[in-house]
Formats: sequence, structure tokens, C-alpha cells
Amino acid sequence: MTSYRIVCTTQDPPGESHHHAHIVAVGIDDDGDGNADQKMSLGEVLRKLDNNDSFYTIGEHSKKKVFVHDTYCCGKRYIKTNPDDYLDNNLDEIRKCNWKQ
Ligand SMILES: [Zn+2]
Repeated sequence: MTSYRIVCTTQDPPGESHHHAHIVAVGIDDDGDGNADQKMSLGEVLRKLDNNDSFYTIGEHSKKKVFVHDTYCCGKRYIKTNPDDYLDNNLDEIRKCNWKQ
């Protein structure tokens, strides 16, 4: 079982509010510096969740850690953060990934 820290998301369609956009990929921080080291597709995240790996975010300001679970939206399977009292660790509120191709 591995625990992965998500530091950014890629949503589709890009630039839409999270009411209209869905997470299609995330950035994982492997070395604890807060930067995204590897890109992971939504499908890969869901497979790992099914494999008992875990994913979490940490709020930029609150420093609160929250875990991610799967959810259904618009008839498809996605991921979201467990609800807590903080917004800055919410998957829809953390920064968008900015991958250098
Ligand atoms: Zn939806």
C-alpha cells in the first residue's frame, strides 16, 4: 500500500469552474517539496485506489491533510476529497497542473 500526495489537478474542459469540469489527471509529489513530479491519469488513480493505495492533499495554508475517495458524477467515476472544514485542501481548490511537455 502506497500513499500518494496530490499537489495539482488537470480538469477537462480546462478553464471551466469545477461545476462543469472534471478531474482527468493529477500531479503527484514524490519527494515532499510540493512540486508535481509525476503525472497520473484519473484511470491510474482509480486503479490504485482499488488496490488499497491512498491519495491525499495537504492545504497550502491550513496544512490540513485530507484523503481522496472515488465518486460518481455525470455517470462516470471520478475522485474527490473527503469533506472537512477546510477549502484549501479540496481537490477542486488546489492549483491546476502546469506540465512542461
Ligand atoms: Zn459531473
